[in-house]
Parts: sequence; C-alpha cells; structure tokens
Amino acid sequence: MKKFGLLGKNISYTFSPILHNKIFELYNIKANYKVYDLKHESMLESFVENLKKNKILGINITTPYKTSILKFVDILSPEVQSIGATNCIKFEDGKLVAYNTDYFGLIKTFEKMNLNLKNKKAVVLGTGGAAKASIKALLDCGAIVSVVTRNKISTKKNLKDVFVISYEELTEISGYLLINATPVGTSPNINLSPVNKEIIQNFDFILDLIYNPQETLFLKYAKSKGKIYNNGFYMLVSQGIKSEEIWNKEDFNYEKIYNELNQIVYK
Ligand code: NAP
Repeated sequence: MKKFGLLGKNISYTFSPILHNKIFELYNIKANYKVYDLKHESMLESFVENLKKNKILGINITTPYKTSILKFVDILSPEVQSIGATNCIKFEDGKLVAYNTDYFGLIKTFEKMNLNLKNKKAVVLGTGGAAKASIKALLDCGAIVSVVTRNKISTKKNLKDVFVISYEELTEISGYLLINATPVGTSPNINLSPVNKEIIQNFDFILDLIYNPQETLFLKYAKSKGKIYNNGFYMLVSQGIKSEEIWNKEDFNYEKIYNELNQIVYK
C-alpha cells in the first residue's frame, strides 16, 4: 500500500482526499491519502522526520506551510525556485524533492481555455502564492504580465519581470487575460468581487482561481459581458493529478478525471 497525504492547518474541509481517492480508484492504485492537520510551524521538523520513518511517498502542502516547509527540503524544482513555494513533495532515495504543481495546474487551465499568451497582456489580481504561481506560468507562456496590489510600495520590491500597479491604475488598462488570484468572492462572501464590471469589460478572457462557489460574482460579471471564462476547479484537479504523476511516475487522463470529479462536486 502506497502512502500519500496533505499537510496544512485547519483543513478538515479539504477536497483533496476525494480527488486523490478517485485517481486511485480509476487507475487501480493501491494507496491511501491522509490529511495531516498541523497546529504550529514549530512541529514541522518532527513531522517531516515522521513521514520519512513511515515511508510516506509524497505529500501535498497547503496554507500556511507552502514556504516554511522548504527549510526541510533537499532539492527544489525550477518552478519552486522561482515561485518560492511548494505544494507537492516527493520522498526519493531518502531525499525530499519539492515541486509546484499549482504552476502545472495553471498551464493546463490555459490550455483548456485555448489561450495563446505569447506577447499578450495578462493581469493578475493579488500577490500571494497563487498569484506568484500565475505570474511564473504566464511569463513561461510568453505573456506580458501586470500584477495588481493594494500595496504597491512593498510589492514592487518582491516581484521581478512584471509591472506592479494599483487598482486605480487598472481602470486605464485593457488586455487579453484577467486572473483573480485573491480570495475575494470565496464562499461564504459570495457577494464580493475584486473588481467591477467595467474592468472585466476590458479583457477578452477571465479566469477566477476560486472554485467555491462554482460561479463567483467576478465570473457572473464576465458572463454578463459575454467573455470566455473559467473558474479554478480545473486548476485544482490538475495540480492533484500532476502530483500523482510525479509520485507514481505514471501519466493520467486529465479530462477523464476532471469530468468524474466535476459531476461529484457540482452536481
Ligand atoms: P493569499 O496568499 O492569501 O493571497 C491572496 C492575495 O490576494 C494577497 O496577497 C492580497 O494581495 C490579495 N488580497 C487578499 N485579501 C484581499 C482583499 N480583501 N481585497 C483585495 N485583495 C486581497 O492567497 P493564495 O493562497 O494566493 O490564494 C488566492 C486565491 O486563489 C484563493 O481564493 C485560493 O482559494 C485560490 N487558489 C486556488 C487554487 C486552485 O487550485 N484553483 C490554488 C491555490 C489558490 P495584496 O495584498 O497585494 O493586494
């Protein structure tokens, strides 16, 4: 029996076990996926030691440990080096290797939306972990990237290769793709949107990384303006599949798994 899991804090709500158990079921993998709810960062070192002792093959990492766990990792993938955060670790020959499969989830989502980002203007709302993964994915696809923040001064120091702008400056900008990488609009605060309809009107494609609710107010605006839009569920499923591909050294069918999970979650 192969052993995998998810590390985070206050994550009893997580959808990840459903996702990974579905992959195990569809591909006949004898494995289990356990949720590890760790109350404090000071417990990380002994947690990692225990994983090694128990021969865990891989874990996903979620808030708030995506960066703090890097202290205990031996090898960083190029995406992790660039983004500064991991959501997927593999235990290989006694060493911990960190990946960022959120990045792959975004690339897969761009493919699903049929985006051609080369030399196109893309704008990311927010500057957290999801925004940083978005920036790396967009730059790797050849886009010209702007990031919108509530605090331009502190953000400018931390982000390279992108334009950093305020929400006020965003009103003057149009572009190809607009991504919401803030938590604004997540359930239960479903009556909020990070920007108004007039901003959305200025972009061709709209992507919200939020997946609960299925259609945020931000996406409702996109729909009312006739835009092509997507929520974060394909990204979520894709990062999970990519993690399983890394751990099991096997390729899986993204569409098949996504369709099964979509029916379970949004029935
Ligand atoms: P985070 O680290 O908390 O960062 C969110 C960023 O949003 C902050 O850095 C902040 O940027 C901005 N922000 C926060 N509250 C705001 C507010 N009230 N108004 C305007 N801006 C605000 O969060 P994260 O981990 O990056 O996640 C962001 C979103 O992406 C969440 O909804 C999460 O569920 C989603 N996500 C989805 C997937 C997926 O697979 N679909 C994966 C990861 C994350 P400034 O302070 O610079 O303005």
